[in-house]
Amino acid sequence: MSTIGPEIERLIQLLAKLPGLGPRSARRAALDLLKKREALMQPLALALQDAAAAIKTCEICGNLDTASPCALCRDSRREGSILCVVEDVADLWALERAGVFKGRYHVLGGALSALDGITPERLNVTSLLARVADGVEEVILAMNATVEGQTTAHYLLDTLAASGVKVTRLAHGVPVGGELDYLDEGTLSAAFKARRAL
Ligand SMILES: [Zn+2]
Repeated sequence: MSTIGPEIERLIQLLAKLPGLGPRSARRAALDLLKKREALMQPLALALQDAAAAIKTCEICGNLDTASPCALCRDSRREGSILCVVEDVADLWALERAGVFKGRYHVLGGALSALDGITPERLNVTSLLARVADGVEEVILAMNATVEGQTTAHYLLDTLAASGVKVTRLAHGVPVGGELDYLDEGTLSAAFKARRAL
């Protein structure tokens, strides 16, 4: 691989860190970018730079936006008494695409995993409890149907029990092992509407 030069080598190494891209697809992506330098590579580099400079993590919900609090937290038309807890911003995006939820979100920043050393302290749990204590009536647990997601949901259910808040979770329609981001909007919408109390 010494024939391709350090700049391209570095580009490939960085691309290979992206989810879903192994070394092979990273090489193909790098080559494609180099072939489309003006049409794709330079606009992409600019977009990356702009996003890196402008995007903030919302101090309230953990969403990504150009402002903190984010547009969803600032939107007074959204129901403040219902909180939908998701693992990741991608799940928030999936729910927004489905357009089923008009309350507010809380992004945990991951799911509990003993294997990966993800403990409750590494997730945005303290801020969730603070928000719940501040006049929330229903918490919807919208975790992925994975082992980690379900472990997290059980943990949150236990942790929220003392607050007396109503806790619901997404119903049927989320297949075992399913991640919200991969569900079509109809399935997600059905799972949301049929959520059940815990
Ligand atoms: Zn927010």
